Amino acid sequence: MTDKPSRNEEEYFARQEAELLQARRAKAAKEEATAERHTHYMRCPKCGHDLATEEYHGLEVDRCTQCDGVWFDAGEVEQLIEGDREGMLSSVFGAIVQGVRSKKTRNTG
Ligand SMILES: [Zn+2]
Repeated sequence: MTDKPSRNEEEYFARQEAELLQARRAKAAKEEATAERHTHYMRCPKCGHDLATEEYHGLEVDRCTQCDGVWFDAGEVEQLIEGDREGMLSSVFGAIVQGVRSKKTRNTG
């Protein structure tokens, strides 16, 4: 009479199995998302080429080695705007433009 598990027991194990499966799926999805994110690290969001970190007047920017797109890290733009009392904004952008121009001159001849 007690050989067969009760309905409650069956339900309990079925629920436990479903929870385990759900936890495994969630973990796999999380790992996949992390791996996907890592493939974008230091890649240009526009063209997918490598980004190179360059320093202009103490401010580090990531510049694309292909399309010359320039990317700022969090807080860097604020730093730039706050520092603009001393004309930092034009100094940094001037240096970036100069860097791109000299790169293009090197490339073309
Ligand atoms: Zn690019």
